[in-house]
Parts: sequence; structure tokens; C-alpha cells
Amino acid sequence: MSRFAAVRFSHFLPSLLLLLGGVFLARLAVLSEFFASLFNVLPTLLLLLGGAFCLVYGRQREVFLLLTLYLGYFLLDTQVDHFRATGQVRTDAALIFHLCSLLLPLLYSLYAAWQERTHLLQDMVARAAVLLAFGAVTVGLAQRFPEALLHWLSRVRWPALQADWLALVQLAYPVFVLGLIVLLVQYLRAPRPLHAAQLLGLGGLLWMLPNTFTLPNALNVMSSQIMLMLVAALAHEAYQMAFRDELTGLPGRRALNERLQRLGRIYVIAMADVDHFKKFNDTHGHDVGDQVLRLVASQLRKIGGGGKAYRYGGEEFTLVFPGKTLEECLPHLEQVRQAIEHYRLQLRDQQQRPQDDKQGRQRRAGKAASQVAVTISMGVAERGAEQASPDEVIKAADQALYSAKSAGRNCIRSHGQRRGAVKLSPGTRQ
Ligand code: GH3
Ligand code: MG
Ligand code: MG
Repeated sequence: MSRFAAVRFSHFLPSLLLLLGGVFLARLAVLSEFFASLFNVLPTLLLLLGGAFCLVYGRQREVFLLLTLYLGYFLLDTQVDHFRATGQVRTDAALIFHLCSLLLPLLYSLYAAWQERTHLLQDMVARAAVLLAFGAVTVGLAQRFPEALLHWLSRVRWPALQADWLALVQLAYPVFVLGLIVLLVQYLRAPRPLHAAQLLGLGGLLWMLPNTFTLPNALNVMSSQIMLMLVAALAHEAYQMAFRDELTGLPGRRALNERLQRLGRIYVIAMADVDHFKKFNDTHGHDVGDQVLRLVASQLRKIGGGGKAYRYGGEEFTLVFPGKTLEECLPHLEQVRQAIEHYRLQLRDQQQRPQDDKQGRQRRAGKAASQVAVTISMGVAERGAEQASPDEVIKAADQALYSAKSAGRNCIRSHGQRRGAVKLSPGTRQ
């Protein structure tokens, strides 16, 4: 299963809504007094609250992203306020705006792509050193050679690429393009909500900067929205950590427990267990064991009939069918059992890799050596007079699973079915 399989639109959705909401609000000619005052304080509030939240959880990367965004906001806001009050830009406005157009995407992309690897304190010191170095050099240059710096920044380097709609200095665009590519690659290599938010955040900056002076609320609103995106993505990830199983991507035990509390009066629960799973671990190693679990999870996720799969723990999975009867669920369970039985898992762990070409050719000739078959057994139970609570239904499904194992595995048993009764469809066992 490739990494791209983990790409989800849901990673982008909250940030996308915030981005579009920001564009919409910033485009309004007049914001109500409430929203105008809200967006005046929101960047500062988000820096303090979001920054504290990130610091407490050791997320240095976001602390510095928030700080960079806030510094850019602060510098530009001073200019915008003056422009709004007097109708004229300050003498240093052009230099500050051009520097922000260049440094904001540069530092943002740098911090966003800079993974937290080292010791927390060292990481923080390194990031702070970069910010200080950039700040000191820029302030030094801007104070000593303002004219030369302004000239250097605003020079048109590639006349063929210059167009009327390019509102920022030319140098800013390659920085944005490079940043967007780096952050897109980062997301594709590790698809997670935070990486999606960072990517859309840079898109937000690209929209905000050219509109800073033309749309009165663009700066306040979009800075707030990008900061919100980052903080919301962190909360999204924290939620995922608590409710999703990292190995298989299925919702985990905690999510199952929550779901069980909200079931109505009619429902079915199935417990699925990988057959002879210990053997996979013992024969091929833990990595292959994990591959098996991911395979089983990916098939169970496709379950039809309104069912939803959860990882119960270890090599056991739970399928919940709200509002369904046993008869309605059995064909869907059988379908997924067969799909797993017929799937051939290609082994791709290091130990299984051929040492040399000759060995590789031999292996390919006898393909069976690099493929394994997986089967599961399932026990199903529905809510009834004997088992009225979800816990009791799970217990009944577990008993049925035990019968399925005793009956030779790779089959489905329902609670109350007599021992030795018909096996739904005995698959071939390896
Ligand atoms: P049966 O057909 O009766 O179910 O036999 P089994 O070997 O599947 O069952 P058993 O309960 O003996 O073995 C379960 C094993 O699953 C033991 C444990 O080491 C392994 N296991 C539990 N969680 C994980 C995991 O996340 N990854 C891997 N690779 N192995 C796991
Ligand atoms: Mg087990
Ligand atoms: Mg098992």
C-alpha cells in the first residue's frame, strides 16, 4: 500500500474552509464592528493562545510558524494603519512591504519544512537563531542601505516573465513557487492534517500579500485564518492520535467505545480475528505481521451494508452495523472474508529481499515464496433479549468467533448457531 493511499481530502477540508472564509470576509467592503474588532485582536490572541498550546505539546515548528506570521502581520499592520488613517503610505512602506513579500514566504516555508528532530531545546535554539540571523541582517541592511536594498528588491530580473497582475516584487514569486512545491512534496511524503494546513497556509499568504493595501481587511483576516489553520490542524492531529489506530488507519478502541454508546435498539457486531497470525510474525518477522494487519484493515474498511470497521486491538477487529439484522449483515461479512482469502500479499520486507540477482530470479520463478495468503475468522451477534448491551453483544460475538476457530478457521459463525452447523463458505487454508 503506497503512501498516496493515505492522502485524504479531509486533511485539507478545515484549512480550505478557513481559507475560503478568509477570502470571503476580506473581500467584504465593510465588516461589522464586531468582526472588525475581532480580527484586530485575533492575530495577537492566536499567537498567545496557539503559541502556548504548541509550546506545551512541544510543537516548536508551529510556534515558529505562528511567530513568523505574527511578525509579518505586525510589520505590515503598522503600515496599513497609517495608510488607512492618512490615505498615504509611509516613506518606508515600500521597503518593508517588499521585504515582507520575500521573507515571509521564505521563513514560513523554511520552518514548515523543517521537521522537529533534535532535542526540544536545541531545536528551539536553532530555530530562534535562524529568525534572529535573518532579522538582524535584514534590519542592518535596511537601515544602512535602504535605497540600494529597495532598488535590488524591485528590479525586474526576468522581463519576459513580468506581467501586470504580478503585484509583488519578482523575487517573491520563485520563493512562493519553491515553497509550495516543497510543502506539497512534504504532504505527499507524509500525508497529515498539519502538512495540508501548512501548504494551504502558504497559499493564503500568496493571496494576502498583494491585497494588503487594496483590501482593508485582507491582512487582519487572512493572518488570523492562517494561524487558525495551523492551530486547528494540531487539534485535528491530536484527535486522530486519540481515536485512530496509527498502524492500520482504522478508528481504534476509543472510537469504538464512543460508537457503542450511541447505538440504537437494533444492531449487529462482528468480531474478526486473523488466523494463525502469530505464525506470520514468527516466520516472516514483525514487519510482515504489520503488513498483514494493514491488508486486513484495508479490506475490512470496504465492508458494505452500512458497517464500519474498528481495530479492537492486536490482530482483532470489530465491525459494527447499526440498524441492521444478522441476516442483512452476513452476506457483506462473507464477501469481505472471501476478499481477504483471495488476496495474495506480496512480501516486501528487507529480509525477504533477494541477496543477489540469481536469488531474485529463482524467487521470481517460484513466485509462491514472496506471496502469502491471509485468512480471518469471524463471530457475529445481534442485539437481542439475551444480550441487550453492546458489551454483551461483543461477548456473544467473541464466543461465536471462538466457535469459528474451533470449526477450522477461515469461516463465519453467528451467536446461537449450533456447533458444527453449516460453514458459510470454507475457504482454502494455507
Ligand atoms: P488464532 O488463529 O487462534 O487466532 O491464532 P493467532 O496466532 O492468530 O493468535 P494469537 O492470539 O496466539 O497471536 C496473536 C499475536 O498477535 C501475538 C502478538 O505478538 C501479535 N500482535 C499483536 N499486535 C500486533 C501488532 O500490532 N503487530 C504485529 N506484527 N503483531 C501483533
Ligand atoms: Mg486473537
Ligand atoms: Mg488470531
